[in-house]
Amino acid sequence: MTTLNLNPIQNPINKKKLYEMEEASSQQIEQVFKTARRMQDIVKNMPVEKRVEEILKINDYVIAHREEIITRIVEETGKSRFDALSSEIFEVCDLIDYLKKVAPKLLKDKKVHTPIVLMGKKSKVVFEPLGTVLIITPWNYPFYQMLLPSILAFLAGNTAIIKPSELTPLKGLIERVLTESGFLKDAIQVIYGGRETGKQLIDAQPDKIHFTGSVQTGKKIMAQAAQYLIPVDLELGGKDPAIVFEDVNIERTANGLLWGSFTNSGQSCTSIERVYVQESIYDELIKKLYYNISKLKVSDENRNYLEPGECDMGCMTSESQIQTVESHILDAVEKGAKVIIGGKRAPGSLHFPPTLIVDVNHTMKIVMDETFGPVLPVMKFKTEKEAVQLANDSPYGLSASVWSKDLARAERVAKNLKTGNVSINNCMLTEANPALPFGGIKNSGIGRTKGEWGLFSFVNVKAILIDKQSSIIEAQWYPHTKTKYDLLTSLIISLFSRSRNLIKFAAVGMKLDKIGSKEKIK
Ligand code: NAD
Repeated sequence: MTTLNLNPIQNPINKKKLYEMEEASSQQIEQVFKTARRMQDIVKNMPVEKRVEEILKINDYVIAHREEIITRIVEETGKSRFDALSSEIFEVCDLIDYLKKVAPKLLKDKKVHTPIVLMGKKSKVVFEPLGTVLIITPWNYPFYQMLLPSILAFLAGNTAIIKPSELTPLKGLIERVLTESGFLKDAIQVIYGGRETGKQLIDAQPDKIHFTGSVQTGKKIMAQAAQYLIPVDLELGGKDPAIVFEDVNIERTANGLLWGSFTNSGQSCTSIERVYVQESIYDELIKKLYYNISKLKVSDENRNYLEPGECDMGCMTSESQIQTVESHILDAVEKGAKVIIGGKRAPGSLHFPPTLIVDVNHTMKIVMDETFGPVLPVMKFKTEKEAVQLANDSPYGLSASVWSKDLARAERVAKNLKTGNVSINNCMLTEANPALPFGGIKNSGIGRTKGEWGLFSFVNVKAILIDKQSSIIEAQWYPHTKTKYDLLTSLIISLFSRSRNLIKFAAVGMKLDKIGSKEKIK
């Protein structure tokens, strides 16, 4: 393959060029797979407890070197240091803390029930690694998104190959963490490049693909993987609704909505992207949101502070994402929406102000498409039924939040929302619990990461049934005589009828066994 240059990596805060990027060569791709395959048996044969020890090395290193890591993340993404600490460093350590306790238990062989017709036999499930997992990641939480699936895949006994986003690859950082922490060499590798590299990596036929990114790319990856029947997990975009009932504490709820919408400058798959407020508190909530937004300390082109205390919100990461945000605002305004605060950046700047927009509706991109920026569109609703209907009127189904003092109502609404996750009286909080599964439905994806489901998505769940070696020929084996047919019929009736007759079942079973004993192979 000829080398294809990609856009150089730049610091979004000051637009300074950081380094060049190019697609990986075929030789590099071949080499990472060769290494990953070589390491497969080593990782597979390590006891889970030993794998946990390896992962803890990453944990210790990340804690000790957190400030340097944050500096690298901030340099490529433009997020505030607080955002990097809370959503990249904290999340990695929290995940490891959960998995270190549960992974050895969850991955142990599991005895399962054996029914009475299989008397004398035993059944179990064993969890085996799949082999080599390809992890393709986006640009918004680069450090966390590379480590989360790699840690799960490795703990489940796989090797992992990561292809980071070509926008925020954090070149060399993950390798540094792995090498300097003393983590098992080559069990997790990183290869850099863009779309072409991604496609070639799939053609190299990994045993599983874990993809986080846009719906558009997710569909392409699934189509390509289908050619080889490679299983895929797709963590895609979202358009998360927040439903706010009239009985809430307005001050707390407004603060929650602002954080849920503006954290990471709104560049989160589970950002609050649309708010539905019960009409009686609409005016009061809008006033409070406006006031609180006006008090936020936002990094701007003249004041590039991203330090905690100086800044609540950093800048956005890419020009093309800002253009999407602007096109959504323009579309909304053209259709009658009103921007209450924010809505415009200084020309050429990647700093986009937190924006509150009202008089919006479901004909607008700002309500129907993923905006992925610091914009909060707010609408009114009258009844619970209407709120659920509006929230579900979306091609996405990632996450949602419901705000009400009436917890029975909040839970009822949560259950009626067509999403993979719901937080009640909070937002993005399901993601903060590593024991909960994370993932979406509809256009938001397929599969679950985190929790025991996340671990099991990287294993072959193998069923084993153990029969002792005996001389009895099983009733269903040949020859298929009329007597056996009649006895099997009686067995079905005695065992599975609503008025189960266990005495009759035992008698029929004994007769079948007797026939089996006579049929034993000489
Ligand atoms: P993207 O789809 O443009 O790119 C993601 C990755 O896919 C990159 O590494 C890219 O190089 C690679 N890629 C692109 N085309 C490819 C192809 N044909 N074959 C193989 N690889 C290919 O996404 P993005 O813009 O980097 O990320 C933003 C999106 O990610 C948003 O939609 C956001 O909602 C979503 N996201 C989802 C989650 C989640 O967990 N559900 C988390 C974060 C971000």
